[in-house]
This record gives sequence, C-alpha cells and structure tokens, in this order.
Amino acid sequence: MSLINWFEEKRKFGGLIGAFIEKATKGYVLSEREKDRSINVDTNKGLWTRCDNCENMLYIKFLKQNKGVCEECGYHLQINSTERIELLIDRDTWIPMDEDMVAQDVLKFSDEDSYKNRINLSQKRTGLTDAVQTGIGNSNGIPVALGVMDFQFMGGSMGSVVGEKITRLIEYATQESLPLIIVCASGGARMQEGTLSSMQMAKISSVLQIHQVQKKLLYIAVLTYPTTGGVTASFGMLGDIIIAEPKAYIAFAGKRVIEQTLRQKIPDGFQVAESLFDHGLLDLIVPRNLLKGVLSEIFELYNLAPWKENNNQV
Ligand SMILES: [Zn+2]
Repeated sequence: MSLINWFEEKRKFGGLIGAFIEKATKGYVLSEREKDRSINVDTNKGLWTRCDNCENMLYIKFLKQNKGVCEECGYHLQINSTERIELLIDRDTWIPMDEDMVAQDVLKFSDEDSYKNRINLSQKRTGLTDAVQTGIGNSNGIPVALGVMDFQFMGGSMGSVVGEKITRLIEYATQESLPLIIVCASGGARMQEGTLSSMQMAKISSVLQIHQVQKKLLYIAVLTYPTTGGVTASFGMLGDIIIAEPKAYIAFAGKRVIEQTLRQKIPDGFQVAESLFDHGLLDLIVPRNLLKGVLSEIFELYNLAPWKENNNQV
C-alpha cells in the first residue's frame, strides 16, 4: 500500500488522522455534536489534519510553520488567537490586558445546554476566559494595540466580556495615541446574553468614533474566516482600512436567511472576501504571511501623514 493510499484510508476511517485515535482506542464513541467539536480541538494533538478546501492531508508541524496556510492550494485554515498574536507581534513584547474578565450568566440562559456549562467547556478547551484576547505589543518595532477574536471559544461570539475588553482596549489606545488593530473571527453577537450582547455593538462603535474621528488615530480591521453578524455590523466594518484574508467568509446574515427574506436566489461565493472586494466593501486582501509587513508599511505611511506634522506644530 502506498503512503497516499494509507492516508486516504485513514481519512475515510477516522475523518482526521490522530484526531479520534485516542478516544477510539478507549472505546469511547463520540456523538455527532462532539465529533464536530473535536475536529476543531483535537487536530492540534494529532500529527495530521485535512485542508478544508482541497481535502489534502497536511502535516501539522509544517502547517504551523506555514502559518496555517495549506501548502497545496493556499487556503487559509483557521488559526487560534494565540497563534495570531505570535504572527503579528514581535517576540517578548506582548502585554495582555484584562485577562481575568469572566462572563456572568445574568439571564440564567439555558437551551440544549446551560450558558454556564458552555462557557466552562470553552474555557477548558481553549485556555481562554472569553472569545477575545487584547493587549499591547510591538509589530516590527511599532507599538500597537491589538485585539484578536478566537472562533474556538463559542464561535467567537460577542458577549459582554468581548465587548468590554475591546472597549477598554480602544480607550487605552486612544489615551496612549496608539494605532489599533482588531482581528475579527466571529459568528456574531452571543445569543445567550440577549440584548446585553447587542448593546456591545453600540458601545464599541462609540469609543471607536472618539479614537478615529476625534483623535484622528488609525484603526485597521482584519477580517478572517468567518466574520459575521454583529461583528460585521459594528467594528468589523468601521476600520479606516479594512483588510481581509483570502477567501474569508464575511457576512451579516447567512445566505439562506437572505434568500428566504428576499425570495431570490443568491449566487455562490457572493459573501467571500474576493467578491466583497470587487464590490468595494474591503480595501485590501492580504495573504497571512504578508500581513505583518503590510501593516507595518501602513503604520509608517500613517506616521508620515502631513496632518500629523501639522498637528505637532500646533
Ligand atoms: Zn488545501
């Protein structure tokens, strides 16, 4: 049997090599829901994973070195918030903010599972307290304020903690005159917090207005797969410059919802970054391995902007 055939057979059998082996050998049978979860989580523990786009087998060690980009087809696989910070921030310069902020279940919300349990589960799986990491650090030597959402924590949903952490980050950046980057990856507002999560959109937008318009400071939004719902409808689309990763899914409502509302067929791929770029919603589409360099160039241009020189003279 050739190596390729062996991979193919393993893939058919287990979905992902290494992902379920540990549990399968213990005779533990996963439910469909748990399998979905494990695909995201356990891939880090196995040696191999599969590209979501071309379905080629990828050696995780090389995939990580390649910043989560498939070497076969160039597809940008999801990476977690910590990997994203390592990608954008110079080594040993990251200072995290508000790491101990934890969500409160004020509505005592419960559907198939209670909100409290979902939070506990996500905290154990990701090692994070909620779906965003914020802090300051240097990017190619330039001090920046950075917020990175993590899709693996309850689908990157925006509740009170995500809203408050991003708000405090923006306020700090405004106070210290730092440029701001927010990397978005979110399923939208967190339904378990109801209106409290919706109001985060207005809260973040209002502090951004002070940062951008009143203080004339730079905010760059980086949209990754997927950026949807309340995040798209607030700070995702408020960047002075909006950058997306290639093939990122960016939407407010999903395709099916739009089709049902408009009673119209929507073309395939219309919510993909390239299509949105063609229609003027984005400024740049930047491959992941070039992102840090592109951001530095933008910051350098921004620092040389004529209005800044005039401001300094005043
Ligand atoms: Zn691929």
